[in-house]
Amino acid sequence: MDFDWTDEDRAFRSRVRDFLKRELPADWAEISRHGPGSREQTEFCLEFCPKLAKAGLLVPHWPREWGGEDRPPWEHFILGEEMWAAGEPRGAQYMNVNWIGPTLMRFGTPEQRQRYVPEMAAGKAIWCQGFSEPDAGSDLARLRTRAVRDGDDYVISGSKIWTSYAGLAHHCFLLARTGEAGSGKAGIAIFLVPMSIPGIEVRSIPSLIGHGDIHETFFTDVRVPASARLGEEGQAWSIIGYSLANERVGIPRYELSARVLDQMVGELRRRGAAASPVVQARAGSAAAACEAARLLVYRTVDKRARGEPLGAEASLARVAVAEADHAVTDFGMEFLPDAFDGDAFPAFLAHHERAIVTGIAAGAAEIQLGLIARRWLDLPNGDA
Ligand SMILES: Cc1cc2nc3c(=O)[nH]c(=O)nc-3n(C[C@H](O)[C@H](O)[C@H](O)COP(=O)(O)OP(=O)(O)OC[C@H]3O[C@@H](n4cnc5c(N)ncnc54)[C@H](O)[C@@H]3O)c2cc1C
Repeated sequence: MDFDWTDEDRAFRSRVRDFLKRELPADWAEISRHGPGSREQTEFCLEFCPKLAKAGLLVPHWPREWGGEDRPPWEHFILGEEMWAAGEPRGAQYMNVNWIGPTLMRFGTPEQRQRYVPEMAAGKAIWCQGFSEPDAGSDLARLRTRAVRDGDDYVISGSKIWTSYAGLAHHCFLLARTGEAGSGKAGIAIFLVPMSIPGIEVRSIPSLIGHGDIHETFFTDVRVPASARLGEEGQAWSIIGYSLANERVGIPRYELSARVLDQMVGELRRRGAAASPVVQARAGSAAAACEAARLLVYRTVDKRARGEPLGAEASLARVAVAEADHAVTDFGMEFLPDAFDGDAFPAFLAHHERAIVTGIAAGAAEIQLGLIARRWLDLPNGDA
């Protein structure tokens, strides 16, 4: 067991940092303040990601035939840590890189891959993910958006909610029911839907996590060809399982939390307030939470890299990441409350806003706690 980075890993991290230092503009803090779904950050990422691609830093872990370099999964993870800690300059495109692209490469037809994967690898595509509905979040299998076969087409009707980045997305990775109402998991299919076709309406949901990040998305008699279906009817659940497993460990927020904690501690030191034993105990506890999250995430990455199935470890990692987020933002709120007002520490407020939703987006943390109880502690199902 070796927990250290190799020289090659370190060199790769330096390469990413140098790139960011060179390419992020002086007003990046202002651009990133609005969140990855904002117009400002979306326009920025459509310039930035092609540069990343050119430098071999957008999809280095992808296969060569799809624009990658077959680099090891750890490099992909280092890349994610550095991007996330820098405020995620890839904007919404982190989703393409981490899971939408790999899912299309694995399950798409040759035409679907050819149509979508190269533009993702070039940093030119914005996707959104239409899963959740007003009555189907944690219990996704209850979703009601219908896709009805009509000759060579499907006609899609229904509504989605909390759709990140939908306002400016080019395509939607959409879940819809092709089976009868009540057909559960077995009646769902995935559709790759251009957001520009008639019948799609997107409404932004005002929120504190950024302008234009989350939306309601309405589909009224949206007609797509059958070739827009990813996989077979009823196969969606196994495809989503693959996709979500990549999504849930795809966001290394612990790295951002750890760096924000460092800044907070630095500010307390500057104010002469870092000697308090209470401050030190709480800072130590937040640092421990960040490192625990990091190591739990690394374990899931390692297992996946070795092709081993992920069990409750992924749930442990996800809960630990949410707890680390909360530990850091609670620490800041307690000892530096004034730093969350005004413009002096934009990173604190941005981190706090995201920490609020960490335990909700990409599947609620409580659901993960239930999985840990059953799969890790072997407790009986509470519903039984
Ligand atoms: C910032 C953000 C971005 C998002 N982006 C997207 C996106 O791009 N695409 C998309 O499709 N969705 C997106 N979502 C939606 C997200 O996936 C859902 O919010 C999440 O799955 C929870 O579903 P829900 O909101 O319907 O809450 P519910 O499922 O109604 O849950 C409400 C509360 O009840 C708890 N609960 C529910 N069931 C159980 C249970 N069995 N045991 C214990 N507790 C339970 C939950 O933990 C939660 O606290 C996003 C959400 C957020 C906050």
